Amino acid sequence: MIKAKYPVNRFSDIPTPFYYYDLDVLRTSLAEIKRQIEGQPFVVHYALKANVNPEVLKTIKEAGLGADCVSGGEVQAALDAGIVPAKVVFAGVGKADWEINLGLDNDIFCFNVESIPELEVIDELARAKGKTAKVALRINPNVSANTHHYITTGLNENKFGINLTELDKVTQIVKGLQNVKLIGIHFHIGSQITDMSPFQDLCVRINELQDHFEANDIALKNINVGGGLGVNYEHPNHFPIPEYEAYFKIFREHLSLRPGQTLHFELGRSIVAQCGSLISRVLYVKEGTSKKFVILDAGFTDLIRPALYQAYHRVENLSSDLKEEAYDVVGPICESSDVFVKDYRMNQTKRGDIIALRSAGAYGEIMASQYNLRKLPKAYTSDELK
Ligand SMILES: *Cc1c(COP(=O)(O)O)cnc(C)c1O
Repeated sequence: MIKAKYPVNRFSDIPTPFYYYDLDVLRTSLAEIKRQIEGQPFVVHYALKANVNPEVLKTIKEAGLGADCVSGGEVQAALDAGIVPAKVVFAGVGKADWEINLGLDNDIFCFNVESIPELEVIDELARAKGKTAKVALRINPNVSANTHHYITTGLNENKFGINLTELDKVTQIVKGLQNVKLIGIHFHIGSQITDMSPFQDLCVRINELQDHFEANDIALKNINVGGGLGVNYEHPNHFPIPEYEAYFKIFREHLSLRPGQTLHFELGRSIVAQCGSLISRVLYVKEGTSKKFVILDAGFTDLIRPALYQAYHRVENLSSDLKEEAYDVVGPICESSDVFVKDYRMNQTKRGDIIALRSAGAYGEIMASQYNLRKLPKAYTSDELK
């Protein structure tokens, strides 16, 4: 078992809050992905929106993963990190012209297209450059991901993708466009999915769609099932590596890939969540009328997931092994939602203690803001604090 280990003595002279990335945990996660897809026609793209820390990106690039981008900035970050354009896919409901042009200029692998007007704009911009854009249709499979409603994306009511009812119309339109080439279909049903059955439902839906495309004489080289695999936020020490085995097995067993087809994945959270912690210091322990508050120097400007999605992050006091007490762990920001966790049992805590907010590697540092004119958190890796 590999645990995130903390060089607490090295933390003592670093100003808090900051992000700490355990690159050994990340490398173990990447090695497990590699082991699971070995010998399969599977390609994994890292979804950059989860974390673009340069050291994290470099480690992921070194493991040979491609990139899944949702903005021009991310396309550029992937290319800057040395990920080859042939492994870059670009999704998003609202791609601006400059972002599409960036993708075209760099000959990225594929645009995941979410609407008819977008398809027409890509065709027009590609024509102006004398190029052909490779596209996959992002189809909304109407599969429920059983996750928080802010992070489900594959239902008809969501803004993402092309609905099944429009599919025939869209494929006819694609056939008529000169400067786009349809190379596949794309899906992404949501995030933090820990029960495998939505992925199985997705496979069933894709099999039906494959039959449909074949009946219409459309050969697709690529199937992209998106990301969404969840991690264990309750027990990061016991489950530092996500359930890749069960996850990839679902697709091996339930998706009927045709000969010559490649199956693409876009994993974000599962790759990076467990390697990251937000490290903070206790400013005050305040006695309320009925409870005690631990007031940290980190707030939702540093880690917004609890405030935004009611997400849970395990909190560990790295400076104390005294007996546990119940606390509300809160940040310093002037908003009532700046609470990390309530009624939480943690080793007896005092001013100055160092606190780790666990599983913060995904959608943590990248979502930081300067609200209240706070400084953006810095980041350090296990390699540099060895
Ligand atoms: C966010 C996103 C992903 C990654 O999702 P995770 O839950 O972090 O794995 C993959 N594909 C698309 C299109 C996305 O928007």
